[in-house]
Amino acid sequence: MKKILVTGALGQIGSELVMKLRELYGADHIVATDLKSSAHEITRSGPFELLDVTNDKAMFEIAKRYEVDTVIHLAALLSATAEEKPLLAWNLNMGGLMNALEVSRELGCQFFTPSSIGAFGPSTPRDNTPQDTIQRPNTMYGVNKVSGELLCDYYFHKYGLDTRGLRFPGLISYMTPPGGGTTDYAVEIYYAAVTTGRYTSYIAKDSNMDMMYMPDALDAIINLMEADSCRLVHRNSFNVTAMSVDPEAIAAAIREEIPSFILDYNIDPKRQAIADSWPHSIDATAATREWGFHANYDLKAMTKDMLAKLSERHV
Ligand code: NAD
Repeated sequence: MKKILVTGALGQIGSELVMKLRELYGADHIVATDLKSSAHEITRSGPFELLDVTNDKAMFEIAKRYEVDTVIHLAALLSATAEEKPLLAWNLNMGGLMNALEVSRELGCQFFTPSSIGAFGPSTPRDNTPQDTIQRPNTMYGVNKVSGELLCDYYFHKYGLDTRGLRFPGLISYMTPPGGGTTDYAVEIYYAAVTTGRYTSYIAKDSNMDMMYMPDALDAIINLMEADSCRLVHRNSFNVTAMSVDPEAIAAAIREEIPSFILDYNIDPKRQAIADSWPHSIDATAATREWGFHANYDLKAMTKDMLAKLSERHV
């Protein structure tokens, strides 16, 4: 049975991933860690430790004490925040990753960390963006993500460390709010739909970006980690996506459930500039071919579920 250390576990992905991993592998087998604590269930339903990922000794001590055989490294500064605080982003995103890779190397752990569509840049082909293509991002987050992909490949080739990764698109979920990404609008719009019935988008009409519903993202992580290693040609990192949408498309899907929903715009030039440097839609066929990736939720199915779950919370 696996014993997994998760960093950044109280974030948008980690808070749901830890719950799912505890169901699958047993609560005691998933060691959740984060810089801060909270009242979230994951701090009570199994082992939880405070851990700053820039502290290599503390990370090693916790990983060794719990005898983990897998590290899922999620702690990071996201795209919009990283652009505001580039030095902090470099130190956390690269320093934390390096520490997590070193701990995994020393203890012989399987390793997963997410990359992002932010690893592409303005010179990348924007439509049906291939798995292997130009990656010259012009954001600090993108620079971190490309460097991270290369570093994970390096640890695989040099040390035989079983590193795996996914280039996530914008992730949409109803449990934990997103943490400062460029695609956060696609989550906020649903919260606004069930509370005020209107939303002002900071991302422009016609800005298509890839998105995925959280249940599909969690399945993708688990299925990639369980995949037969010899089938993996790419490892770090696979393109995955479920839909390519702009604010109008999401609003139209919301109006099928809430006809009076109003969308208007007040563009944030900083986050729009990041969005403009990212692909319109990415090609996930390598992930499908090498480990059977598929997404269950399209825009319509995701919208129905998001609105139902958020409405339950707001009654
Ligand atoms: P998030 O911002 O919601 O959560 C990050 C967590 O890391 C937070 O709980 C925070 O407290 C913690 N953290 C911050 N600094 C830390 C430190 N020094 N030590 C330990 N923990 C620290 O992020 P998320 O959305 O869950 O993203 C997780 C990973 O997935 C990141 O690598 C991110 O780049 C990637 N990703 C996310 C998305 C998305 O849409 N959410 C898309 C693509 C890639």
